[in-house]
Amino acid sequence: MLSLKATGVCNMLNYFSSKDIKIGILGGGQLGKMLLDVTRRYDLYTKVLDPSADAPCSVGSKEFIQGSFNDYDTVMQFGKDCDVITIEIENVNTQAMKDLQKMGKKVFPQPEIVELIQNKVNQKQFYHEHQIPTAPWFGFRTKAEMLRKIGKNSTQLPFVWKAAVGGYDGRGVIIVRSKSDIENIPDVPGLVEELAAIEHEIAIVAARNEAGEIRVFPPVEMAFHPVANLVEYVFCPANLSSEYLDAAGIIAQSLVGKLQIVGLLAVEMFVTKKGEIWVNECAPRVHNSGHLTIEACVTSQFEQHLRAILGFPLGNTDLIRPAVMVNLTGEENFTGPVFYEGAEEMLAIDGAYMHLYGKTETRPYRKMGHVTITAESLDKAKGNALKVKEILKVKSQVGEGN
Ligand code: ADP
Repeated sequence: MLSLKATGVCNMLNYFSSKDIKIGILGGGQLGKMLLDVTRRYDLYTKVLDPSADAPCSVGSKEFIQGSFNDYDTVMQFGKDCDVITIEIENVNTQAMKDLQKMGKKVFPQPEIVELIQNKVNQKQFYHEHQIPTAPWFGFRTKAEMLRKIGKNSTQLPFVWKAAVGGYDGRGVIIVRSKSDIENIPDVPGLVEELAAIEHEIAIVAARNEAGEIRVFPPVEMAFHPVANLVEYVFCPANLSSEYLDAAGIIAQSLVGKLQIVGLLAVEMFVTKKGEIWVNECAPRVHNSGHLTIEACVTSQFEQHLRAILGFPLGNTDLIRPAVMVNLTGEENFTGPVFYEGAEEMLAIDGAYMHLYGKTETRPYRKMGHVTITAESLDKAKGNALKVKEILKVKSQVGEGN
């Protein structure tokens, strides 16, 4: 007879027999809200920590605690009655995560991995040491050290500057094209890397559970908003030959294996005009690039993350139908109580699934929701995605200046 232990299904905790087992989530934004869709389906007990009283997770979790996930004491207090602790944002207090782990809690992703990924220089160093392909780079602690290294390495303009910590959604990244751009670089630790001649920006979400099982979702392709430097559309399948799709999958799988992460890892990559595949950065959590898995794949990234951190078998990641995800961001010139213009009309579009994050206030380019469109072909899904963009606008009842 097949023993449960041999299949890796055996758990110390039986999540389905008791309401006393708590899953704590650090961060209560939209990613947490979509995780809660699955915890509610599985009937699991959840507790969420977020600084904002009306965070997207303030409804939908069994317990919601208002407080800072950066503060050691708050995270310790929050986690001490939880059995499993996870994150939906990487900017959390990792010392508290480590101490909760020492108390015997399951803390996934592991705090050391979160700490590594919080710092872009350490991330690049990890890629370098583990033969993960990435853009040529060097790190520095001060601007003076950066200038010395630029001279020593004869670094040519243009290049890319990145702050070691604190940047997200393109903040903390400067494409340096001129001497005056160099003058404007702040004096903080960071890295300089080659400007990639990007042909495609792709991402792969992969998952690993404690038993070491790894599953990889199909690569997606990202298209960025020209002004906001935010992802505007995500497409699946990515427009690449199977040779590239396979090679990118192997890189993601290898990174997950080398990190030994338990949970999800989203790996962002560049495919360059010369045909190299370079890892740009990764995130140890559910990710915007994986939202379309909810409707387009057999298992969603959210369910996969929970399966991975709870020690369950991982789910099938196959794509059911081609899909496009449209990020719904606040229109320019609108700040205030949100209003989704054209939402009802948009719902008439075939295969469109709307997700609103429950944020009450909009501001220019704030991520307020997304729409996934699935269709029998990617072209059809893209056509319908353009219609979604035309019809649905995130505005406030009162426009700025009114
Ligand atoms: P963030 O952590 O803020 O998301 P990223 O490192 O992902 O920052 O960079 C934001 C965007 O800047 C990328 O999606 C890409 O479009 C561009 N970028 C970053 N690094 C490079 C590079 N080496 N070459 C060309 N473009 C880059």
